[in-house]
Amino acid sequence: MPKFLSLLLVVLSCGVGSLTAVASSHGKMDQAIEAQLDHILNQSNGPETLQQLQQLTAELSEATPFLTRIRALNYLAIEYARVRQFDAAWNVLNGVRELADNSASTDAITETEATALLLYTLQGKTSAALTHINTALLLSDDVQVPRIRYFAHSMAAFIYQHRSQFDAALEHYIHAADAISTTHDSRTLIRLLATKQQIASLYGQQKNYELALEQLDDTERLAIKNNLMDMFGHTLYLERAYVEVMRQNYDAALAHYDTLRTQLRQQPQHTAYYLTVLNNMGDVKIRTGHYEDAHKILTEAYELAQLHPDLLNPEVILFNLSYVDIFLGHEEQGLAAMQQIVTNAETSLPVVQYESLLGEYADALTHLGRHAEAIEVLLKQRELREQVYRSDQQASMAELQNLYDSKDKALQIELLSQKNELNQQLIENASQKRTILKLMIALTSFAVILVIVLYRSAYRNNRELRVANSRLAEQSARDPLTGLLNRRALQHAIRQPTHGRQDAMLLLDVDHFKRINDHLGHAAGDEVLMEVSRRLIKASRDSDLVVRWGGEEFLIYLVNIDPDKLPVMAQRILDAIASTPISLEQQDINVTATIGFINYPLAVTGDQSINWERTIQLADLVLYAGKVHGRNQAWGIMALNQPFADIQQLLETDLPAAIEQGALDVTILHGPKAS
Ligand code: GH3
Ligand code: MG
Ligand code: MG
Repeated sequence: MPKFLSLLLVVLSCGVGSLTAVASSHGKMDQAIEAQLDHILNQSNGPETLQQLQQLTAELSEATPFLTRIRALNYLAIEYARVRQFDAAWNVLNGVRELADNSASTDAITETEATALLLYTLQGKTSAALTHINTALLLSDDVQVPRIRYFAHSMAAFIYQHRSQFDAALEHYIHAADAISTTHDSRTLIRLLATKQQIASLYGQQKNYELALEQLDDTERLAIKNNLMDMFGHTLYLERAYVEVMRQNYDAALAHYDTLRTQLRQQPQHTAYYLTVLNNMGDVKIRTGHYEDAHKILTEAYELAQLHPDLLNPEVILFNLSYVDIFLGHEEQGLAAMQQIVTNAETSLPVVQYESLLGEYADALTHLGRHAEAIEVLLKQRELREQVYRSDQQASMAELQNLYDSKDKALQIELLSQKNELNQQLIENASQKRTILKLMIALTSFAVILVIVLYRSAYRNNRELRVANSRLAEQSARDPLTGLLNRRALQHAIRQPTHGRQDAMLLLDVDHFKRINDHLGHAAGDEVLMEVSRRLIKASRDSDLVVRWGGEEFLIYLVNIDPDKLPVMAQRILDAIASTPISLEQQDINVTATIGFINYPLAVTGDQSINWERTIQLADLVLYAGKVHGRNQAWGIMALNQPFADIQQLLETDLPAAIEQGALDVTILHGPKAS
């Protein structure tokens, strides 16, 4: 059955819509341009929006307040992405990124990285988006402009929602609501309604249809009361229809779609919604076996989409139409059309979409009894899935990092509670805020005003506590046991562009560490880790970042190091760990470590560059080789002699063969012999 499109479109239009819902409320901005930006984004994103933004950004100068410039450029990037000019979008974004990074303004950096989240999302790269959340929210606690905090948390929530991580999504919607509550301008209610609507859609996805409908009823009541139905009516009814489809109340769903169809017809500014309505109606008609109706509706959608390919890819609708054709008896014609689209889509659509087209194509083939062809298509689909999965694995490292960070955070909270008596109150306040938020979501408009007042007083209390806690903020970048930097701190540092500088990374894993724990106890293990940390600090240079990467794994980020000197450095570290035994209370023990090191950025034949996550993965690969070859040694990758994509699989599956073939230059060093 053709993909049900409404969810994505509803949620996306809300996500982007929430941009229109965020006005400036901050001083260091150019109010005229800010107002212009609000205006541009309020006019439902017609085709002229891009032009207006291009013109507006062309007129920006050094004299324009910094945050206004950042906002305008970010909106330009978003607009490029909305019209699917992704290269242009990323170009603009990378430019903004450089500005933001150089300024070290938390507001600018957060807005820009949140925009990156939106670009990934519009591009359908949810894995990349997911792994970028950490970076985007890294500084969000310090953001001054509520609009930006709201935007960043809404994006994070939206992405988690797409990955079915509903708890995390709800948490970030709550943060977004928190940001809303610090404003009291004409946009406050709009943001609140947008957030409520998102929460409704979250409930819908969790199959809590009653709660979802309750939220929608409530949102609608508020919208009517405040004259905001123009802004929210369409998405509200799309969402209602979606819930009804999920409950298999097809008649109720169609009734909503019919209403929308009548309202939206001939309204050029709402073409995107109208197209969504038509496509979704077609879907319901197919689900209920009304193929003639489906055909009629989808034909209208197709003709319209051809005029607006930026809003909805006409090929997708044509594909659904051809699918209907088959059920209407035009088997040859329908199948030929589907095949044609599939062929085109291989190069024109993102892999994930192409892969799902293949699934539907196989469906149609199966329906027609053409099993051999169906199998062939399914095999191809599986191959692509594996490909997607593999790139997901790439991302999973960063996901793991997210996980590590949250555990790390738990540790820090413990630390805080030991050192800061105020902490208990902070936690109580947080739960008070949560309760209030729940109320806020549940109550009618009359009560909302009262609740906002309550909420603001809770916020004020918290602010005082936050000041007390900020003294401890430094510790949040540090590992409690060793005092070294933690992963999050590194991630932050590494995101700064290297600007032609040659850096390197050195990943170190203590050998047979488990034995130390097993024979001498966990406390002795901790002692060893602390001594190893001291030795690493001593052996590295002041400018290097020494990070506790995991349990008994360390990472040294070497800033500005001549590749020729790198092996010398690796040798020095091997020696620092192993040449002198470590004295413990009970006894002295010999400790060794194995190292993987690598230049960053890495010289690679061909012009692609390798991001830092992947670079660390490569270091990890050779570290593992060092373990296998007897430990107490350092393996380094100095360069790749073939384009990464060509040798990636070989590297991951058979490193010795890759070395043998000369696919990469590896240097091997040995640590001192045990005494
Ligand atoms: P290999 O040479 O292959 O690296 O062997 P290993 O024993 O070092 O490797 P493995 O990863 O199996 O063991 C790591 C151990 O480190 C397991 C874990 O219990 C211990 N560990 C992790 N974090 C800490 C910590 O903070 N303190 C102590 N004492 N032990 C830790
Ligand atoms: Mg280990
Ligand atoms: Mg180890």
